[in-house]
Amino acid sequence: MLSYEDRRDTLISRFNGTTDTVRLGKDTSNLFRDRSQTRQPLLNVRSFNHVLNVDRDHRWVEVEGMTPYADLVAATLPHDCMPCVVPELKSITIGGAVSGVGIESTSFKYGLVHETVLEMEVLTGNGDLVICTPNNEHRDLFFGIPNSYGTLGYVLKLKASTVKTKPFVRLEHIKHTDAKAYFEHIQILSTQDISFLDGVMFEPGNYYISIGNFTDDAPYQSDYTYNYMYYQSIREKEVDYLTTRDYIWRWDTDWFWCSKNVGAQNPLLRPLFGRKRLNSIFYTKVMRWNTKWGFTRYYNRFRGIHTESVIQDIDVPIDRAHEFYEFFDEEIGIRPVWICPVVAYNKSAEYPLFPMDQNETYVNFGFWDVVRDKEARLTGFYNKKVEDIVEKLGGIKSLYSDVYYSRDKFWQIYNQEAYQTLKRKYDPNKRLKDLYDKCVLRN
Ligand SMILES: Cc1cc2nc3c(=O)[nH]c(=O)nc-3n(C[C@H](O)[C@H](O)[C@H](O)COP(=O)(O)OP(=O)(O)OC[C@H]3O[C@@H](n4cnc5c(N)ncnc54)[C@H](O)[C@@H]3O)c2cc1C
Repeated sequence: MLSYEDRRDTLISRFNGTTDTVRLGKDTSNLFRDRSQTRQPLLNVRSFNHVLNVDRDHRWVEVEGMTPYADLVAATLPHDCMPCVVPELKSITIGGAVSGVGIESTSFKYGLVHETVLEMEVLTGNGDLVICTPNNEHRDLFFGIPNSYGTLGYVLKLKASTVKTKPFVRLEHIKHTDAKAYFEHIQILSTQDISFLDGVMFEPGNYYISIGNFTDDAPYQSDYTYNYMYYQSIREKEVDYLTTRDYIWRWDTDWFWCSKNVGAQNPLLRPLFGRKRLNSIFYTKVMRWNTKWGFTRYYNRFRGIHTESVIQDIDVPIDRAHEFYEFFDEEIGIRPVWICPVVAYNKSAEYPLFPMDQNETYVNFGFWDVVRDKEARLTGFYNKKVEDIVEKLGGIKSLYSDVYYSRDKFWQIYNQEAYQTLKRKYDPNKRLKDLYDKCVLRN
């Protein structure tokens, strides 16, 4: 294998060898919006998927930008550490989670993935290679890359903080029946010395908080990689034990609970999937195939059902979370909903393209399903309702899926002035797309 430096230099000369607008050539993507088929040349970055160095004592890992978390975790756990925030889906890459915003059950302690980054080496739109840190001459790009979706530059290598691990995780699942008390309890727990904190809201009156703590020993270990499903265990067990590796990937086997959409939860069909296909990478392929050929679309039309895909992660301040839940229960009604508290890791750090109040505790609501309707609705009817209430409650929405904001509203939320300043400096010839065109117009 060529060294990182050799592959990097080859990539840069390939990038500078043309003036075309390019797009990333990667094996997988977790973007969830149909993009227009373009003839833009692909910049093949597939080989930038290596873990370069794990410094167990100083708690950091040096890794190439297109490394999927499955490989990053496999490389760090033997050193009794893991990246501070590891998104749940194995194919999410660290560069994609930094540029596209990533979250997990340690975010109440370490914030979002980009808040745990120490340094990045970026190929910018104007073909330069810059090293950016929180304090050097490229600190504007260091804080500007999060939520830029590859429109300012590509992260080829980065250093990220790690946290010490133990072999097992002891889980405690706490039931709540009142949504207000539920969020109040999460607020209290998010100030305590625990290792992991997230939750699931099932039907009304069935809300669960899952607290996880590293342990050296476990009386038993549960296995949710085949016959049993993690999300169902939350309601069945008050206490549970998993290996740390299985805890990290607890949501990947059934894509949270979205595996139901491909029939993988049907006890007759599940064995046909086998261990090898029970994972988010396989489900994403099936979902993309279905979107392309419109299988469910025709089937629903035949049954006179109108559907709208509502696949989103949104963050609202915790003291408004109850109001969001009431709206969501009334107007959208998708269940279950994933709940994950987020607290800024570094209160003085500001990320202009994903503005959050660094002194506030937020709750991430993750919901990924379709809303079925007897009535035909205008495009984005339900997604727009979500966008409106998130703004009203002082929240912010991830951009990895469908976005319906007008250009003015979008730039009001995602900081046009800061973006344009960065774009003029790092991609003056617009070799990389514009954020609005990419995330909303799907160009
Ligand atoms: C069902 C579902 C559940 C999800 N749940 C979670 C969750 O729980 N936690 C979470 O963190 N995220 C979640 N996501 C969102 C996901 O993390 C983001 O979409 C993330 O950006 C995907 O990363 P990726 O590596 O797959 O990147 P891609 O999908 O390939 O790319 C995402 C964007 O980042 C850009 N990009 C990719 N790599 C780089 C790079 N090296 N440098 C610069 N730009 C780059 C791409 O151009 C693209 O615009 C979920 C998504 C789905 C569909």
